[in-house]
Amino acid sequence: MPYSIFGNKFTRHSGITELMDDLNQGVQGGDDLLMLGGGNPATIPEIEITIQGLLQKLLDQGKLLKTLANYDGPQGKNSFIDALVELFNELYDWGLTADNIMLTNGSQSAFFYLFNLLAGDFKAGKKRKILFPLAPEYIGYADACVSEDVFVAVKPKISELENRHFKYHVDFDALKIDDDIAAICVSRPTNPTGNVLTDDEIEKLDKLAHENNIPLIIDNAYGVPFPNMIFADVTPFWNENTIICLSLSKFGLPGARCGIVIANPKIVKAMSNLSGIMALSPGSIGPEIALPLVKSRDILKLSDQVIKPFYQNKSQRAIQLLQDKIKSPNFRIHEAEGALFLWLWFKDLPISSDSLYKILKKKGVIVVSGHYFFPGLSQQWPHTNECIRLNYAQSETVLVRAIDIIADTINALYETGSV
Ligand code: PLP
Repeated sequence: MPYSIFGNKFTRHSGITELMDDLNQGVQGGDDLLMLGGGNPATIPEIEITIQGLLQKLLDQGKLLKTLANYDGPQGKNSFIDALVELFNELYDWGLTADNIMLTNGSQSAFFYLFNLLAGDFKAGKKRKILFPLAPEYIGYADACVSEDVFVAVKPKISELENRHFKYHVDFDALKIDDDIAAICVSRPTNPTGNVLTDDEIEKLDKLAHENNIPLIIDNAYGVPFPNMIFADVTPFWNENTIICLSLSKFGLPGARCGIVIANPKIVKAMSNLSGIMALSPGSIGPEIALPLVKSRDILKLSDQVIKPFYQNKSQRAIQLLQDKIKSPNFRIHEAEGALFLWLWFKDLPISSDSLYKILKKKGVIVVSGHYFFPGLSQQWPHTNECIRLNYAQSETVLVRAIDIIADTINALYETGSV
C-alpha cells in the first residue's frame, strides 16, 4: 500500500526509533544485555518510594480514578500549571502567569509541535529552519519535522583539557543567521555530551535571537530546578523571547509522559491549539502525581539532595573506570557537566562508531553511535564517526561489566586494528 509523503517520512528508519527499540530490548532483556544506550533514568529508591506513596494517597483519596476518568483542557491540568507558575516566580522572579505555561505528552511532543509551528514550508516556496548552534545535539530532534531538510547545525570549537578531557563551545564566528532561520535550539545540559552551555554562551545566543526576531528554545530536560542533573554552576535563563521545555521524565516519571513548556502567551496559545488537534489534551497522571511535590517544594529537595548527587557520583565513577581501563592517548571524555550520559571520543579509531556499536551489541553491550547526534550538519567531519554515547545510570555491576567489554574492545582496536 503506498504511503503519503508524511507516511514515508515517518515510517523510515530513524536513529530515535533504533534507540527506543534497543531501550525496550534492554529493559526487557534482563541480565544478558548491558544497557548503556537509551535515555532511561535510573531507578533511585528514594524517588520510587516517594512516587509510590503519592500514588497510594491519590488512590486512597479517590483522586487517581477522578484523574483517569476526565480530560484536561488542551493547555494541560490547570492546578499543575498554577503550581508551576508559583514555583518559577518564587525561584527566579520571572513574572509568569498561567498564560506562560502549557503541558504536552512528554517534551518530545513539545519539540514536534514547536519545530512544525515555527519551521518548515511557508507560502511562496519559502522554507524556514531550526538552527542548532552547537552540534552534537539531541538525536530526538532529527526527524521531528514534517518538512524535509529543516535543521542546520554548526560545528563546535573544541578545547582539549587535562586528563584526556575535552569540551565543546559554540563557534560564534561560524554562526550565520539570516531570514531562513526560524529559531535557535539548544539542550542545556546537552544530550548526548553532558555539556552545559555557559551563561556567556546563552546570553550571546539570546542576543542573536533578539536581533533576528526569532525565539531561543532551551531544552531543559535535565536542568534546573528539576531534575537538576546539572553539575556546572550556571544561571537559569528565561525571557519573553525564550521557550523553555522541561519534563518530568528524568525526575523518574518517563512513563507518565509529561512535558512542560514555558513561553510567551502567543506561543503557549498556538501550542495549546496544536495540542487540541494532535492529542485533545495532554495526559493528566504525571501532573496529578507531581502536583503535591511542586506545592510542597519537595520536588526541589529531592532534585537537589537525591537526584543530583546520585548522577554526579555515578558519572565520576564511570569516568574513573574508563580512564583506568582504556589505555590509548587518543581516547577523550567530554566534560561531564550534567545529564546522564558520557560522550566518548576515540580519535582516529580504525572503524566507525556505528561499526563499534554493532561489535559491542554482539558482545551484549548497548551504547549509541555518535553519528546520529549531528542532525543538520551538512559538512563532512570525521569526528562525527569517532564518538559514542554511554548512559551511566546503571547499577555498579552493569557499569563495571560493560566498561570492561568496551575497554577491551577499544584497546584491541587501537593496538591491532581489529577485535
Ligand atoms: N530533550 C532531551 C535533551 C532528551 O534527552 C529527551 C529524552 O531523552 C527529551 C527531550 C524528551 O523527553 P520526554 O519526551 O520524555 O520528556
